[in-house]
Amino acid sequence: MAWEFRTEPEFEKKLDWIRRFREECIEPLDILHPGRAFHPLDDELGPVVRGLKRQVRDQGLWAPHLGPELGGRGFGQLKLALINEILGSSGWAPVVFGTAAPDTGNAEIIARYGTEEQKERYLQPLLEGECFSCFSMTEPHAGSDPTMFTTRAVRDGDDWVITGRKFFSSNARTSSFVIVMAVTDPDVNPYKGMSMFLVPSDTPGVRVERHVGTLGEGTDEGMHALIHYDGVRVPGDALLGGEGQAFAIAQTRLGGGRVHHAMRVVGQCQKALDMMAERSLSRETQGSRLADKQLVQADLAESYAQLTQFRLFVLYTAWQIDEYQDYKRVRKDIAAIKFLTPKVLHDVVYRSMHLHGALGVSNEMPFAAMWNGAAVMAVVDGPTEVHKITVAREVLRGREPAPGLWPTQHLPARREWARERLEDLCRNQ
Ligand SMILES: Cc1cc2nc3c(=O)[nH]c(=O)nc-3n(C[C@H](O)[C@H](O)[C@H](O)COP(=O)(O)OP(=O)(O)OC[C@H]3O[C@@H](n4cnc5c(N)ncnc54)[C@H](O)[C@@H]3O)c2cc1C
Repeated sequence: MAWEFRTEPEFEKKLDWIRRFREECIEPLDILHPGRAFHPLDDELGPVVRGLKRQVRDQGLWAPHLGPELGGRGFGQLKLALINEILGSSGWAPVVFGTAAPDTGNAEIIARYGTEEQKERYLQPLLEGECFSCFSMTEPHAGSDPTMFTTRAVRDGDDWVITGRKFFSSNARTSSFVIVMAVTDPDVNPYKGMSMFLVPSDTPGVRVERHVGTLGEGTDEGMHALIHYDGVRVPGDALLGGEGQAFAIAQTRLGGGRVHHAMRVVGQCQKALDMMAERSLSRETQGSRLADKQLVQADLAESYAQLTQFRLFVLYTAWQIDEYQDYKRVRKDIAAIKFLTPKVLHDVVYRSMHLHGALGVSNEMPFAAMWNGAAVMAVVDGPTEVHKITVAREVLRGREPAPGLWPTQHLPARREWARERLEDLCRNQ
């Protein structure tokens, strides 16, 4: 049976447009305003960015992850993967195309679990790219194990009152609203006792204690907040989905988000590999180009092979999500690409950075953010170890231990079986 990888010519034209548009119109923003993508637009950048978003809409490419009912094109995850790998090497491009985390995941859960009023109030401005949102789940004492969360929401008349602290809530600095996960029933299994709430960021009692940055960011540049929810009173209709549904909602959100990160990392690795190839052809030492040294060739070959394996795995996972429309069914492969994402980014970026020598570790090349990204990707949306556990569990599902002392592939027993089998076959000839 034939098995070919090919993009429809019409869609390939769109990809060409995206590539050119990113290079010519978005990269200037990346170079001159790298930290401002998630800030409200000011008079200087507002007209430019709104103009760029308009061009994206005119091409029918705004929010390509969304179905037509939400104003997207319904391209599906496979085509989104091809788009995201072009956008992924740019910090601004996901914002200009309406595909940036955490807003995409937040929009997805409001679309799926929100009431009509919630959609109008929170989803519509998000889809139009007019505001930012924040997802507030991790706590200072617990991240990988959400059953340990203690932030409480208690009923008071028709209202809920939320009390607790959350850590690393991205974009709290600029978000209009926060989605908060809180314990609503401490007496049941934690998987059934937590709920999600939609909380406007300016609600009294939402106190940002500090904005935390990632590696190397200045103390005033952090985008990930430590938030104290200090008796935050919200009305009953702030509940997103049903009471006790927080885990189901979080899984919906994180499943898609993890794949989208992987898609973007393909683009970053491709950029690192391109830089590595160019440098190896440009630099000479000890009588020949770097590209002629066998150890450098080995690094180039490893990087190419690692990236291609990863890319195919990401595309295959995206294809499965389109095919089955069920994140749970694809859980094993989503978890696998989640833990491969930091590994491939780390390896390819390190080799490329290292090949550039002093220049590579200087602030005159774009490696720092990519290198930081490898560390971040190993933690964000759950650490590597947790995803390996998921994959291992899924791999073991439905399998049995050996029936006796020896493995079923133990050769002495297999030889015995093979001899008997061959004798049978000879007799029957
Ligand atoms: C850039 C960035 C943005 C983020 N944005 C958000 C956000 O918007 N909203 C939000 O709620 N959270 C956010 N987070 C938090 C993120 O989801 C958590 O950091 C993550 O879930 C891990 O939790 P933790 O940091 O508490 O690590 P811990 O749970 O303390 O784990 C620390 C380490 O322990 C080890 N470990 C943990 N579990 C196991 C295990 N079962 N077996 C073996 N080893 C293990 C791993 O090495 C792990 O890295 C963000 C994080 C980053 C880095």
